[in-house]
Amino acid sequence: MKISINKAHFPVSVLGPGKRLGIWLQGCSIGCKGCVSQDTWERDPGRDMTVAQLLDWCRETAAGGFDGVTLSGGEPFDQPQALAALLEGLMRWRTRSKLDFDILCYSGYPHATLQKNHAKILAKLDALIPEPYIDAKPLTHIWRGSSNQPLIPLSARGHRKYAPYLNTLADAAAKRVQTMLDGARVWYVGIPGRGDMAALESTCKTRGVELTQVSWRS
Ligand code: SF4
Repeated sequence: MKISINKAHFPVSVLGPGKRLGIWLQGCSIGCKGCVSQDTWERDPGRDMTVAQLLDWCRETAAGGFDGVTLSGGEPFDQPQALAALLEGLMRWRTRSKLDFDILCYSGYPHATLQKNHAKILAKLDALIPEPYIDAKPLTHIWRGSSNQPLIPLSARGHRKYAPYLNTLADAAAKRVQTMLDGARVWYVGIPGRGDMAALESTCKTRGVELTQVSWRS
């Protein structure tokens, strides 16, 4: 089974509790205004890998211990078969290795749409952050981009791990964005505040660094 991936990183500490494996799927058909991840929109066969290869990367990368897996994008539910296969592999690994990591998934689709079209996939998740990003609504709560996006525990493990965070405000987080370098590219991971990326761009410019091909505008 092939899955199209934008990037994967470890450790991620700004998208869910603890030290996490972060996997960003490539391709999003939703197109929220103000999306800061526009580099994930286009489907790109050049970014395909097998689910087995991705699971191998997860096992090797997090061998020293981790708390959870965060799936984002792009739109994970635009690749439903690959997403289901990945979740089945993660759950098998968790059971066989007696691990207790949780699986959190973001989606820009409304919760009701996911319940109607993808109930079997939801049953494999511990927590979900659904609904489209709405630029006109404020960033209020931890791990969410706009105030319309709920954090929904879906399993017993999800309830246990996420209950303390359901009403945690974004300002309570020690940090909201992580930076990582990949050759000439700089990745920003997390939930930036409104205007943060424009402010970063302008600060870089005053210091002689021009950011090109940024993902927060087309
Ligand atoms: S915010 Fe998420 S769902 Fe919305 S366009 Fe961007 S990647 Fe797609």
